[in-house]
Amino acid sequence: MIVSPKIFYTHCYGKYAIPAINIFTLEQVIGLFRAGQKANAPFIVQMTPVARNYTHQDMLLGMIKAASKIYPKATFAIHLDHGNEAHAFDAIASNSFNSVMIDASHDPFEKNVERTRAVVIKAHKNNVLVEAELGVLSGVEDDLSIDEKSARYTQPSEVEQFVKKTQCDSLAVAVGTSHGAYKFSGGQGIQFQILQDIQHRIPYFPIVLHGGSAVNEAEIKRINKNGGRLNSSALGVSSDEITEAIKYGVCKINIATDLRLIWARVHREFFNDNPELFDPIIPGKSYMEACETFMLEKFELLGATGKVSQLKI
Ligand SMILES: [Zn+2]
Repeated sequence: MIVSPKIFYTHCYGKYAIPAINIFTLEQVIGLFRAGQKANAPFIVQMTPVARNYTHQDMLLGMIKAASKIYPKATFAIHLDHGNEAHAFDAIASNSFNSVMIDASHDPFEKNVERTRAVVIKAHKNNVLVEAELGVLSGVEDDLSIDEKSARYTQPSEVEQFVKKTQCDSLAVAVGTSHGAYKFSGGQGIQFQILQDIQHRIPYFPIVLHGGSAVNEAEIKRINKNGGRLNSSALGVSSDEITEAIKYGVCKINIATDLRLIWARVHREFFNDNPELFDPIIPGKSYMEACETFMLEKFELLGATGKVSQLKI
């Protein structure tokens, strides 16, 4: 069932969080929906502009709609991740999204407000929520790469005005996480002082954490053991940090890197162990199962397991 994330946020605030999963392939979609239905857990399925361009937006939406039919108890929202105006307006016009992100975080404050507000006006007319961003995350997402020097934390003093002026529905913040597999190369982790300050200024307003992958060390080791050359200093967000962040109003946690790492691990191991094979459906099946297992664990960690039956839908 497709549900507005507003219903999720109202219910989960301060208690648990909704995983927002970036999808690129059908194996990920199947694994995610199977896990969502099995765990009775709400989730957000989201796509970046690059994911849309990889095949086509209609292909991704088609897979999501098919999965919804196959797993009718799966309860989810569809979100556009990191859009600009063209992507956001296109998503709104498609009538298939519950929520869009306008990422104008690289612009100065006033410009960010102006660009976000324009998307909010159009989105709200069509019953679509808007996620905006304040502060700049470092790391690599899609074709955008931000070095650590250009990254900056969200200024808590700006959040109140930003939310008031734009009327956005949720706010992505930069509090120490980054995109990609190398989240804490500076070593500092999530800045809870900043997060707490933000929460105090906008109580009960849903906060979004980008770059929420765990970047499991065991996955990196298995990838490298099978011919990969990933930097072993790759580091993600720890489970403790995630559960702590939920208490500060983080309602949505974006996860993309982890499913990419699992993809690399499953396929590298499979072809290393079975060099004579070439059939995509054998490792594909393993990848679906690995995505499902990963999601079941993630729902558990975020406290989302079993929550669908408590939602007011
Ligand atoms: Zn992001």
